[in-house]
Amino acid sequence: MDKEKLKYFKKRLLEEKADTLRTLKQMENHHGTHASIREYTEELSAYDNHPADLGTEMFMVEMQGNLENHERYHITEIDRALDKIENGTYGDCNLCGKTIPEERLEILPEANICMECAKDKMPIEAMQGDRGRPVEEKLLAPPFSRTNMDGKDYTGFDGEDAYQAVARFNEVKNDPSFSTMDFSMVFDDDAPGIVQGVEKITEDEYLEQLPDDELEETLKDKKMHP
Ligand SMILES: [Zn+2]
Repeated sequence: MDKEKLKYFKKRLLEEKADTLRTLKQMENHHGTHASIREYTEELSAYDNHPADLGTEMFMVEMQGNLENHERYHITEIDRALDKIENGTYGDCNLCGKTIPEERLEILPEANICMECAKDKMPIEAMQGDRGRPVEEKLLAPPFSRTNMDGKDYTGFDGEDAYQAVARFNEVKNDPSFSTMDFSMVFDDDAPGIVQGVEKITEDEYLEQLPDDELEETLKDKKMHP
């Protein structure tokens, strides 16, 4: 890389570093770097009546800390790039040694590896996609997948029925809050032994709804073939 270009990137890096340092200072000034949770929250005591409130504060402190660390890491990266300018290796990929295209440096002057190597450094989860999941999940999901016989010819007591039978012990009949929804879709089964809706009708109910002449026929029929 020629001297003019190097000068240009050095200027860009120094500006970027100054910006980042300023941001970091502002973040740190917002609270003392080592402020206790009491100072941070301006509460009189850290022994709160509502510990969960402090949990929220704690989360905010940690998030703030992470954001600051991110800025600090950015400064480290810039320093490394400045070192590379000094020792004449700026623009070379740290991993494969190839020249990093100037378009990439234009966008990311602190880049110390090329695009191809950066892709290889992607998080394992992102590269693996589905393959990153534990193999046992294939058997565990969907629930009762091995013993759920819905949609198959089997009409007996299956895994889903077993779960429903046990889960009923936890069911709150007429839950006054109507809010938990814990059992929505859990008890989608009918009473055992019933497959189709028509089977829920008792024989008496069936006979009762027959027109009189048909009723006589049916009763006569039943007498002959009990
Ligand atoms: Zn590379």
